[in-house]
Amino acid sequence: MTYNLNGELYVESKEAAKMLFEKLASIADETLSDKRDNIYIVRNSKNVTIAFDLRFGKKEQRDEIRNWLTEKHEYAAKGIIQEHTCNDDEGLPCSNFVEVLKWGDWDDE
Ligand SMILES: [Zn+2]
Repeated sequence: MTYNLNGELYVESKEAAKMLFEKLASIADETLSDKRDNIYIVRNSKNVTIAFDLRFGKKEQRDEIRNWLTEKHEYAAKGIIQEHTCNDDEGLPCSNFVEVLKWGDWDDE
């Protein structure tokens, strides 16, 4: 079993984007590497989008970054954070899907 944390953060300030991205990048060493892009960042005229899809070997590692993001979530104008448990090493589908947090204005979706 491994522990996934994924989400998207829409950030309007450069400083906040840097802080959030650097934190996510700093824990990328703790995550299990696979062929997915773990973290990517897209900039457009209005904002920066940071998307992440991280998988950890230990639940505590996943919970630590999830709690950090939850604490700092207002640095992003809007965002969504989700988590689940990956059971694919046992040939089973993922389980325990949780929407940890969704905030900001999503009316334009
Ligand atoms: Zn999974």
